[in-house]
Amino acid sequence: MTKPWWSKKWGKDKICGITHARLRPGTNKNGTHHTTVLKCQHGFYTNPLLEWVKNCPTDIPTCPVCRIEFKLIDLIC
Ligand SMILES: [Zn+2]
Repeated sequence: MTKPWWSKKWGKDKICGITHARLRPGTNKNGTHHTTVLKCQHGFYTNPLLEWVKNCPTDIPTCPVCRIEFKLIDLIC
């Protein structure tokens, strides 16, 4: 049983599935988290993920990495 990746120290292996940039913790000046973790445990920068959802051809967005369906209400972190 491994710990969820967000419970570990942020490191170089935590890469956004869309931008491939290293994820970083914290919030921006609007209080929005920089990153979002889907229930499939894939992490993304929030803005590219919202763009992805916006451009999604179906009503139910899918994870850019593993294609599991999620709802925006599922967004955490
Ligand atoms: Zn995923």
